[in-house]
Amino acid sequence: MTANASRVLVLNSGSSSVKYQLLDMADGSRLAVGLVERIGEATSRLAHTPLSGDGVTREQEGPIADHEAALKAVAAELQADGLGLDSPQLAAIGHRVVHGGLKFSAPTVIDDAVLQEIERLVPVAPLHNPANITGIRTARALRPDLPQVAVFDTAFHTTMPEHAARYAIDVATADAHRIRRYGFHGTSHAYVSRRAAALLGKDPSEVNVIVLHLGNGASASAVAGGRCVDTSMGLTPLEGLVMGTRSGDIDPAVVFHLKRVAGMDTDAIDELLNKKSGLVGLCGDNDMREIRRRIDEGDERAALAFDIYIHRLKKYIGAYTAVLGRVDAVAFTAGVGENAAPVRAAAIAGLEEMGMAVDADLNAVRADEPRLISPEYARVAVAVIPTDEELEIAQQTYALVSA
Ligand code: ADP
Repeated sequence: MTANASRVLVLNSGSSSVKYQLLDMADGSRLAVGLVERIGEATSRLAHTPLSGDGVTREQEGPIADHEAALKAVAAELQADGLGLDSPQLAAIGHRVVHGGLKFSAPTVIDDAVLQEIERLVPVAPLHNPANITGIRTARALRPDLPQVAVFDTAFHTTMPEHAARYAIDVATADAHRIRRYGFHGTSHAYVSRRAAALLGKDPSEVNVIVLHLGNGASASAVAGGRCVDTSMGLTPLEGLVMGTRSGDIDPAVVFHLKRVAGMDTDAIDELLNKKSGLVGLCGDNDMREIRRRIDEGDERAALAFDIYIHRLKKYIGAYTAVLGRVDAVAFTAGVGENAAPVRAAAIAGLEEMGMAVDADLNAVRADEPRLISPEYARVAVAVIPTDEELEIAQQTYALVSA
């Protein structure tokens, strides 16, 4: 690494999209952010915003055939801003990798062996790891000499005790197929739990936090003294909370029933539970803004979907209170958690006996900063902590390559 190299490019490669940010770790500033979407279609779109320059978003539309073409287009945009991938100031590329299994409990510099191991995990993350692998391969081909780091969504959860991570199924079968709770959104849970401790003026080792990451995908975690002790997503991101399009927890026998009685095959059930369930399955909308608008107009389906969503959230807050024994903070984050005041109010309503309450005025404040929304008398701090997975990935990447 060049002595003054302090920039990190963060890549989040999905099946048909690449999100990216270029950060300068000297001061944590963002130099450029962007997104390539609909890769492989005729209507691909690249939106690039040079924050170190004029800040005006440049958009291109037209076919981008694959991830290699997408990354080349991103590289050209960065080059045009004097931020090219060949810059000696670029220290590393940090890749978001969804599934790290049990092997990867920390960010890892990618070599051929690491890439092979990430490939070995494809059977447990068929929807996510292949796209991450394509992103890594493409970036390595563009800059083979540059350190590339994998930051795993599962890593933060590898501290879960065995009694939280194991399902109560036959041990031999579980082990043969690597079936256990892995948990996801770990980068966000790590970042938010640390920021929540900082908001309380404490070291992460001193506090117990329940993190509620409520985006389109949603997960809860119980974090004791900075270490994850339980989380709601499992072998895959399907388990746990009600999400935008995923069911979250259901009786596993529903799957047998759909197969035997409804005559659906495995792929159709997978599609039903991952893409056509959750809020969208319940009321046809997965955007919480739209659901609140419909509720305000008296729509009963939207109201029931909201109530089911909140009921599940409350169950996890209660369960993790019991798991932690003492809760110092409940932290709301991600699209819904950061923006939907009615969700926060409803999830905490009635939990006064557990020391939890929300102040209506504080809850109504909109801000980009971490903030408390609980009244002073409440024993448990309820907070809104905007997540920043890209910053966390960049920090972890930079810490590893500059060590
Ligand atoms: P993901 O990263 O999982 O795609 P996000 O964390 O960006 O999701 O969250 C997206 C969701 O956040 C949207 O589907 C919508 O339900 C919710 N959301 C975004 N903005 C608002 C808002 N102002 N009010 C209520 N909900 C919002």
